[in-house]
Amino acid sequence: MQFSFHTIVIPDYPNPGEYLLYNTRSQAMIKINDELKELIDHFDRPDYFYLRFRYAYEIVRLHKSGILSENQEEDLARLKGHMDQIKHSVDTRSFFVTILTTYACNFKCVYCFEESSRANEKMTMACAEQTMAWMKSQIIKLSYRSLYLNFYGGEPLLNQPVLEHIATAMKSWCESRGVEFKFMIQTNGYLLTPQLIERFLPLGLKQVRVSVDGVGEDHDKNRPLRGGGGTFDVIMNNIMASCDKVPIGLSVGFDKGDTGPIERLLSYCRDKGIIRKLGRFIFSPIHAGLGRRGEKENIQNTHCDCNYEDESLVEANRKIRALMTNYGLEIKSGMSTTICPLMRENSGVTVDQQGLIYKCNSMLGHPELSVGHVKDQEYNQQHLAFVHLDVYNQCPQGCVYLPMCSGGCRFSSFLRNKNFTTPVCYKKYLDTMAPEMIKQEYQARRSKILAEVS
Ligand code: SF4
Ligand code: SF4
Repeated sequence: MQFSFHTIVIPDYPNPGEYLLYNTRSQAMIKINDELKELIDHFDRPDYFYLRFRYAYEIVRLHKSGILSENQEEDLARLKGHMDQIKHSVDTRSFFVTILTTYACNFKCVYCFEESSRANEKMTMACAEQTMAWMKSQIIKLSYRSLYLNFYGGEPLLNQPVLEHIATAMKSWCESRGVEFKFMIQTNGYLLTPQLIERFLPLGLKQVRVSVDGVGEDHDKNRPLRGGGGTFDVIMNNIMASCDKVPIGLSVGFDKGDTGPIERLLSYCRDKGIIRKLGRFIFSPIHAGLGRRGEKENIQNTHCDCNYEDESLVEANRKIRALMTNYGLEIKSGMSTTICPLMRENSGVTVDQQGLIYKCNSMLGHPELSVGHVKDQEYNQQHLAFVHLDVYNQCPQGCVYLPMCSGGCRFSSFLRNKNFTTPVCYKKYLDTMAPEMIKQEYQARRSKILAEVS
């Protein structure tokens, strides 16, 4: 018996002499004492017979949870089963579809990844019908129990007739088949009035996400109106007038290591009395724009959040987590098992205003990287090429992070190497951040258990 390749051991936590164990494949988290740790480290020592006997129950439990494995062969077989399962399985609980109602936008953000490929195109009613027919066929074919739509853009509220038509028709169709229906809107917030929200609530609106980059000038310099002029005051007035009606989460971009705008924004929201009313905050680093439409060789950068090799981001991440703790905001640990959705046979998709289907929003505006069209029943060859990338096979199979990283972001690989096939390694970042993220996860799970029993 030995520690699995994919078990991270954190010494002296939560108390001196204790070890917190976390398996990146099974996500099991277990605390052990130093005697048990000593036994696992020297499991076959003849004079530890009495320890093996004393801890027999714990050893079985640790083995079952994936923290321990019999040997390397068992560990690697478990890993292969896990990766195959994620790659080929369908999560029938929910089908998540992002719909670009339009590429048009009333803002001209300095870092907009769609700017280079922007066309003033809106989804037509005919394309909306095709999109709905395609979603219905997928729901039937894969037996989804719920449909969750995310209206996105450009600015999705610049094409409200299509948004309303899709929400109304899909709600009615889903309800007639016992499929749950809900939707969210990702908007710049400028047109988000309380009246609009009241109109959308009966159609299944469950949450809104608004992008805000700070307070006043911090925000306005990044996210001005297309014709010039600030947008912060209008957006915040809209949010304050609506956050009692629906959860509104804020997506906050920050420039490399500079967390000053985030500090000012959190303090502003507290002073205005809305910090507890808002939905989840998501903080991500800002990246520069894309290359020109249809020329994937010229893609320069991405809004991909996986690009974490920058040292300043480690520090920024720490500061943001400390701030969130101070303000009592929910923190997602960041520990999860996943593979890049491009390599999954059935994952959430994005449908653009022309009906092209994408598996990665960083590729929007580059039709040669789309994986199909809603008028067709099957995905195209590009989809198969992405699904068969299996980059994680090039990584050392004993890498402790493999189940949560699986060779890294494919788009980042393209940016660096002009191909989708090279692993992009975040090991250095993860070595620094993983112990902190696991401790946060431990505290979150502990608080949840305590809340349940009290
Ligand atoms: S390539 Fe994969 S991991 Fe990277 S941004 Fe796209 S979907 Fe996400
Ligand atoms: S890319 Fe690096 S961290 Fe990720 S699985 Fe491969 S070796 Fe591990």
